[in-house]
Amino acid sequence: MISALGIAAFDPTGPLAPWSFTRREPGPTDVQIEILYCGVCHSDLHTVRGEWGDITYPQIPGHEIVGRVSAVGASVTRHQVGDLVGVGCMVDSCRECDPCKRGLEQYCDEGNTGTYGGTESQTGRPTQGGYSSTIVVDQSFVLRVPPSLDLAGVAPLLCAGITTWSPLREWKVGPGSRVGVVGLGGLGHMAVKLARALGAHVVVLTTSASKAEDAYRLGAHEVVVSRDEEAMRALRKSLHVIIDTVGAPHDLNEEMRLLALDGTLVLLGGSPEPHPSPGAFTFITQRRRLAGSLIGSIAETQEMLDFCGEHGIMSDIELIRADQINEAYERMLKSDVKYRFVIDMATLTPASSAPASP
Ligand code: NAP
Ligand code: ZN
Ligand code: ZN
Repeated sequence: MISALGIAAFDPTGPLAPWSFTRREPGPTDVQIEILYCGVCHSDLHTVRGEWGDITYPQIPGHEIVGRVSAVGASVTRHQVGDLVGVGCMVDSCRECDPCKRGLEQYCDEGNTGTYGGTESQTGRPTQGGYSSTIVVDQSFVLRVPPSLDLAGVAPLLCAGITTWSPLREWKVGPGSRVGVVGLGGLGHMAVKLARALGAHVVVLTTSASKAEDAYRLGAHEVVVSRDEEAMRALRKSLHVIIDTVGAPHDLNEEMRLLALDGTLVLLGGSPEPHPSPGAFTFITQRRRLAGSLIGSIAETQEMLDFCGEHGIMSDIELIRADQINEAYERMLKSDVKYRFVIDMATLTPASSAPASP
């Protein structure tokens, strides 16, 4: 076993704190990665607080991982020691079911193996995420990171980037598309950058008027404060695709009405409570659709990373020390993220003890 250090949750309500644990030794097809940076996704918070169901504690979250390969198994062909690589939200899947065979591992019939909160097929132990010093992952789930980009800004591409890229591609966003992005947080700001780079006209819908200036800087053509009823009415029937990143229950009727004929509202947010169901006429009158999307496949993730490398796209981040993670969670709950927290893993030492040990 390999000794490792992480920042773990020990129960649903207490603070995260340093925890020494072990990783498996790399098997023949495994890659061991020294983690340099890990982004902080709202899913981490939902998970460790038990909002998506019971989990095993201690639990180390984190699925926006960038690091350097420090060891490879004997049969590894895709990566070499010293390579800069990334790991996103999943580390394995059954590889035999229909979605897996179609290269859509995220929709594996058996459930993909989450980077944290899953069960390691190799050991039967719980998977532990990227707020940690090192990780061991099968080579098929390890991505190549474009060397031209700042590594800390790349980390959030591994979840926020791919989760917004996948629906933009699935619903064929490009020149001539009018795309709405609801919620300007980690996912939302990546949706703005990616939709803009794909050539779309981008409209940000936010609850935070104070984010308008940033939204324009990130690439939005228009910004609407969603509580402004008049501005919302003026937008009706104008958008082809809406990417909704809000992870809390909210009224979808008004968003549906913003869709043009045949438009699609894609839900990405993992609200623990259901949204009130939109009325039938919001669908019927313009043949509108309501959809969802889960992260993205490994192939799509590589495509997105390569696209970001070519276009110089990274996340706007706030780099934090390991001992600032609890403060970051509190700010995330207040929609106060500009626009992704990323942990500098070099600051993770046993002595860096996070506030109040459990
Ligand atoms: P985030 O950084 O916290 O951003 C969410 C944004 O939504 C906020 O900044 C805020 O933007 C807006 N918002 C409005 N009302 C809110 C409320 N009551 N509570 C929270 N946010 C509110 O979160 P994120 O990391 O982008 O993740 C967003 C959601 O997507 C989470 O539920 C996460 O679990 C989920 N997710 C899903 C997938 C997937 O595969 N589908 C992948 C990753 C994450 P404004 O200030 O602009 O209104
Ligand atoms: Zn995530
Ligand atoms: Zn499968």
